[in-house]
Amino acid sequence: MIPIRYVEPVFRPPSEAESLILPVTDGCSWNQCTFCEMYTAPQKKFRARDEAEVLDSIRATGERYGSDIRRVFLADGDALVLPTRRLLTVLEAIRTHLPAVRRISSYCLPRNLKKKSQQEIDELAAAGLSMVYVGAESGDDAVLAAVSKGETFDSTVDALNKLGAAGISRSVMILNGLGGRELSRQHAENSARLANATQPEYLATLVVSFPKGEQRLRAGFPGWEPLTQPELFAEMEIFLDGLELKRTVFRSDHASNWLILKGTLGADKERLLAQVRQAIAGEAKLRPAWARGL
Ligand code: SF4
Repeated sequence: MIPIRYVEPVFRPPSEAESLILPVTDGCSWNQCTFCEMYTAPQKKFRARDEAEVLDSIRATGERYGSDIRRVFLADGDALVLPTRRLLTVLEAIRTHLPAVRRISSYCLPRNLKKKSQQEIDELAAAGLSMVYVGAESGDDAVLAAVSKGETFDSTVDALNKLGAAGISRSVMILNGLGGRELSRQHAENSARLANATQPEYLATLVVSFPKGEQRLRAGFPGWEPLTQPELFAEMEIFLDGLELKRTVFRSDHASNWLILKGTLGADKERLLAQVRQAIAGEAKLRPAWARGL
């Protein structure tokens, strides 16, 4: 058994399935996005973990599995909220006790980086932080405000560009359908603009979904109406069409998506657009409803 204390539920990006999940915080320090239920359980209330506990976890894991662990994901929702000095101590301990680790990643809120200078982010990169997942959700300020994201186009661009300048790979998530019917077009266009302004290494889209109902979202966004399947495809077409990317791995293959899209942008832009247009015309093979896990 891994000698680490986990507070369930624990979330990680799908691509971190092989990673050691190392909680350095619990929950999310923001926790106000009205579409997100990840950290709403009482036991997931935000707190930074005690430094001694985290360092003990790393040391004990190293004693048992030292040379087997190649990837570490720093949990929970926004590990980078911790002060840089604390993060550097954690990264240093990983290097010492888990010497085979080649990749360290975490989620990151743009707000986490507001007070961190470029030099601090460079130091984190030099100490081994190599990849972050940023839930941008949208590049449209009206959508971001309506869902209480607490970020803007500019704050997200600033954070992504700081990370990029440090050489940290960025995986950016956009939520298809988040603007509802009313803001669908501007959501798609400005999300494409956000990606173009930051040129992330990875870009993914997910279809917004509400396993526990839409009440929280509607409280702040009363006019929100869900997109139908053809409207979701139409939004995706606007988004893809607006992308001007040089080298970004694009994925729209999460279980929530009806249509599975994968490619490298810009090289595959026309192929991906053709797939979406086929779906709009009702000619594409879609994931059956029973296979859409949300
Ligand atoms: S910042 Fe991320 S984890 Fe926190 S509430 Fe928003 S979507 Fe959820």
